[in-house]
Amino acid sequence: MHELSITTSMLDIVKEHMTRHGAEKLRSLKIKVGEMAAVEPQSLLFCFEACTKDTPLEGAVLDIEVIPLTGRCRECGTEMRIDGYSAQCPKCRSVSVEHLSGHELAIVSMEVE
Ligand SMILES: [Zn+2]
Repeated sequence: MHELSITTSMLDIVKEHMTRHGAEKLRSLKIKVGEMAAVEPQSLLFCFEACTKDTPLEGAVLDIEVIPLTGRCRECGTEMRIDGYSAQCPKCRSVSVEHLSGHELAIVSMEVE
């Protein structure tokens, strides 16, 4: 499962951070996930709970921020919100649109003690 490998590598980063700071408990973890990252927040939450159970990370709150897919027209520079997979510039109708956000998959912050 896609979400499981993401969770595992995310938790590796968290554990490394905790070791470096001598922390024993994870209170919360905030991550951002782009719409295009093909990640289901629900299954991510499920994997997170499953992976942290019976570890020092158990009970931590996972906060998932979903980043909407946005783009910019390569012809006229108009920025837009993209719904679905194909994008068209609302101004000049060009389909040459580059993605600005929506592919993120990263840890924003974590709270340890
Ligand atoms: Zn345009």
